[in-house]
Amino acid sequence: MKIKVGFGFDVHQLKDGHPFVMGGVQLEHHAGAFGHSDADVLVHAICDALLGAANLEDIGYHFPNTDDRWRGISSLVLLAECVKLLDERGWTLGNIDAMLCLEAPKIKPYIPAMKQHISAAAGITEDDISIKATTNETMGFIGREEGVVAYAVCLIERK
Ligand SMILES: [Zn+2]
Repeated sequence: MKIKVGFGFDVHQLKDGHPFVMGGVQLEHHAGAFGHSDADVLVHAICDALLGAANLEDIGYHFPNTDDRWRGISSLVLLAECVKLLDERGWTLGNIDAMLCLEAPKIKPYIPAMKQHISAAAGITEDDISIKATTNETMGFIGREEGVVAYAVCLIERK
């Protein structure tokens, strides 16, 4: 069986009073991630992992921020599009492992809902989706709560 691994990274600024969407879930927080679409840092990192595994460029290539089609859209739609791109090329998604890095809020209570959303968009079971979170120990731009970072890896298999 042919398998491939993919890696993704994303970073977004945090701005006061901005909605904070992560894994399709709206977090309760005084600040939120700012950027194109819904600035869903977790889903963006996952999309880049999927595209990378299949050697299909990156999220900016497929969904350019100059294209009004993707303005304000849920990033879960982009994730579903990435899975479709893989499917068209004979790849099926195996599993996803993701790591979030931010100081606040605590992510753990939101993880089950994030897994539900990502499972529905990516067409894999929640058991094949791992989401973990850590802080940056108050250091740097993450520590100062100026930004949020996500990393993801995934495995794809030849159908
Ligand atoms: Zn992003």
